[in-house]
Amino acid sequence: SDDRSLVAALRAPAPSYSFEFFPPKDDDGEAVLWQTIADLEPLDPTFVSVTYGAGGTSQERTVRITARIAEQTAMRPVGHLTLVAQTRGEIESVLKQYAAAGVDNVLALRGDPKGGPRAPWEPHPDGMTYAVDLVELAKELGGFEIGVAAFPEGHPDAASLDHDAEVLAAKARAGADYAITQLFFRSSDYFGLVERVRALGSDIPIVPGIMPILNFAQVARMAELSGAAMPAEVLEQIEPIADDKVAVRAKGIELATQLCRDLLAGGAPGLHFITLNRSRATREIFEQLRADGLV
Ligand code: FAD
Repeated sequence: SDDRSLVAALRAPAPSYSFEFFPPKDDDGEAVLWQTIADLEPLDPTFVSVTYGAGGTSQERTVRITARIAEQTAMRPVGHLTLVAQTRGEIESVLKQYAAAGVDNVLALRGDPKGGPRAPWEPHPDGMTYAVDLVELAKELGGFEIGVAAFPEGHPDAASLDHDAEVLAAKARAGADYAITQLFFRSSDYFGLVERVRALGSDIPIVPGIMPILNFAQVARMAELSGAAMPAEVLEQIEPIADDKVAVRAKGIELATQLCRDLLAGGAPGLHFITLNRSRATREIFEQLRADGLV
């Protein structure tokens, strides 16, 4: 990591690379996470981020873990924050806790409905409706660099891909400094999003989110929930070996590494790895990209 702002790092010629974690459910899970963080820190990521759950305990863990990363490591933490089941005052208080802990980077998200990503969204009666409202609040409080979500295949509720791109451009106009995408499998979906957003006059850096297929059922479920389709060209390669866990994992690493190469070759500003709190797959992909001289 370096002393530049995160957005300066994302706008620099060298690609960024970053790692995403989630708040563990219990202390055993947290021990695994700290080991993973220790394993990944030597790679000197541009930033690491921690997702934000729907329950009070997991939300407290997110704030505590990002604060400890800021305090005890050389890495730059990004704290995710959502609007789910919280009043405007509660959301503002989390932003202030982040700031007080030295976490001055937030990923401003709406969050998914309590009934899951496909349930209808109902804002808290004293809360906020769209992620753009949170961007505005963080901007108003000041002192934050603000990231937002982007969707190469469109958000599942988006009226159209064009409207989806307009939502991202509006978040940028409200003060978002950069975006990170939902997982996806085809570089063409990512480049399509970038093109739509640029056509709207926005130059916001859009960092692709990368999640290798290590466990077929798990990725298929996450993809379905997030509205990312598992494309035929991926299914064709995984399905014939679906019963062989070792082969699936190797193929998943190979496909993700190739996706990363294509994204960087096409001008993506960096790579954001969804680690699921494990370091091995990310390190394997990273080592191959480093051998290629790409990171
Ligand atoms: P928004 O930008 O508010 O968009 C939500 C929907 O509303 C979209 O369909 C959009 O098209 C529509 N919309 C927006 N503005 C308008 C408008 N003005 N008029 C009409 N329609 C509008 N979830 C978590 O719970 N915790 C996390 O930590 C988390 N991390 C994530 C990280 C990344 C990188 C990504 C891509 C997603 C993450 N999510 C997380 C999931 C995210 O919260 C969901 O995908 C959520 O459904 C959408 O969030 P958003 O911030 O894009 O919302």
